[in-house]
Amino acid sequence: MKIAENYSRLGTENAFVILAKAKKLESEGKEIINLGIGQPDFLTPKHIVEAAKKALDEGHHGYTPANGTIELREGVSRHIKKMYGADIEADRVFIAPGGKPSIFFAIMLFGQPGVEIIYPEPGFPIYESVINYSGAKAVPMYLSEDKNFSFNADEVLNLINEKTRLLIINNPQNPTGGLIEKSEIDKLVRGLKKFPNVAIFSDEIYSRQIYDGKSMPSFFYYPELFNRLIVMDGWSKTYAMTGWRLGWSVWPKNLIENVTKMAINSYSCVSAANQVAALAALEGPNEFVNEMMKKFDKRRRLIVDGLNSLAGIKCNKPGGAFYAFPNISETGMNGETFAEKCLFDAGVAIVPGTSFGQSCTKYVRFSFANSYENIEKALEKIKKIL
Ligand code: PLP
Repeated sequence: MKIAENYSRLGTENAFVILAKAKKLESEGKEIINLGIGQPDFLTPKHIVEAAKKALDEGHHGYTPANGTIELREGVSRHIKKMYGADIEADRVFIAPGGKPSIFFAIMLFGQPGVEIIYPEPGFPIYESVINYSGAKAVPMYLSEDKNFSFNADEVLNLINEKTRLLIINNPQNPTGGLIEKSEIDKLVRGLKKFPNVAIFSDEIYSRQIYDGKSMPSFFYYPELFNRLIVMDGWSKTYAMTGWRLGWSVWPKNLIENVTKMAINSYSCVSAANQVAALAALEGPNEFVNEMMKKFDKRRRLIVDGLNSLAGIKCNKPGGAFYAFPNISETGMNGETFAEKCLFDAGVAIVPGTSFGQSCTKYVRFSFANSYENIEKALEKIKKIL
């Protein structure tokens, strides 16, 4: 057999590889604390589960329109209005099995040999992987520790040239927890006026996970970009629904048909009953989200202070999401060795920085989507091996 050459350029998401390693160690009887995977350690709120059960009982068993049911798309449209005041017609909303398909489809729509796509590094590894797969040139936008993993708008604008087709932004950010302030995005958006042919993909999957009383600096605040803006968000992180596979995105009107065709050519549509549950999540009680954030905030303080108290480790305070991305270079190890040592010697699964970009050798990612007690225990165990 001879498979297509472009497949050799497809990367992966290392957090899943580490999850598999951790599970294997657990099956051998070792106690592993998993701070590797990026999913809330809570169960989906009951009213959402009940809505899915009821939908199944009531016969929501068939295909739905490929871009999502009209009820759910209208629900997302109302949600956007409530959150950001933006008027988004339901026919610009696209429902997908998770946030990831929208990333894949957007990059495949713009990516081809001879064009450039800008993506954040450190960043969610799927961006670089799919850009390479598409044949486009992946141009990293480096986020630095000394800017608390935000960016400088002028530096980003300097990366744009006549070959640039798409600019990917993720805020709040995986893997660093960095939060780009609205003032910096304002500057970027002003500068983007000079580049009307560049589309923007804003990955806002952590939009509800923001600390210190700040609000989400969403791209929905910039209607002047709406004819070339794709915004992706979803249910996975906000409602602890990673395994349900549910995400939404908003597209310029003239791209919706293309992206819908991508769905028709791959998975047809999202599970009908899940879409009913997704609407219940958007329109039901919100206490869960606030309670979850209170817990994340406590853990954030614990993990940042705990890591900073360890010799050779320096950790910024994340402004959003549930990740800490400490610099461990003064331990004398690189991120890969450090992560291996944590897993095999301390029984703590974390992800090496290089899983989020080749330049990130000095870093590791801790997900604090685990209990306060487990994080305390993990810090103790790491302290011992250091
Ligand atoms: N975007 C970012 C930045 C993420 O961190 C993740 C998941 O970890 C996703 C997208 C994918 O989300 P989903 O599980 O809804 O596909």
